[in-house]
Amino acid sequence: MPLKLAIVGRPNVGKSTLFNRLAGRKLALVDDQPGVTRDRRFAHGRLGDLDLELIDTAGFEDVTDESLEARMRAQTELAIDEADVSLLVFDAREGLTPLDRIFAEILRKRNKPVLVAANKSEGKAGDHGAAEANVLGLGEPIQISGEHGEGMAELYAALLSVA
Ligand code: GDP
Ligand code: MG
Repeated sequence: MPLKLAIVGRPNVGKSTLFNRLAGRKLALVDDQPGVTRDRRFAHGRLGDLDLELIDTAGFEDVTDESLEARMRAQTELAIDEADVSLLVFDAREGLTPLDRIFAEILRKRNKPVLVAANKSEGKAGDHGAAEANVLGLGEPIQISGEHGEGMAELYAALLSVA
């Protein structure tokens, strides 16, 4: 049975880049422009000997718009409910934002296994931002770089621990 993994978080943190890496194919649209609205995407993936069923989610940048925030919440909650474990991705170079905290809150309320990924951490650039994430109360963040493939062994170990 594959492990169902939902990749969630605010726009532009690198969710689709990680999804593509784990899927081994260019399936999800990676966009330099934040705020592009897209549906959930599904793909088979693999990390080491771990079979994954991946769910990529699109975020919505303009959360001052109530209908957009509701949509963002709804699709994130759907993905979490479909998954065995959710990976909350944030941008460790930027550090935690209010929107990251909203996602953390959504995850805490669902009461399902959660891992936190401090992405864009290549070359130690995310060390400071990663340390900030401890306040989320969702466990020690895993420092990764979806783009450069760093931290994949740590991600694998973390996934095994919840699988
Ligand atoms: P999403 O909106 O969360 O799906 O984010 P994307 O995967 O579309 O990536 C948003 C931007 O972040 C793109 O410009 C990516 O090239 C960049 N990005 C993604 N992963 C990394 C990473 O590990 N390191 C760095 N430096 N940039 C990344
Ligand atoms: Mg995306």
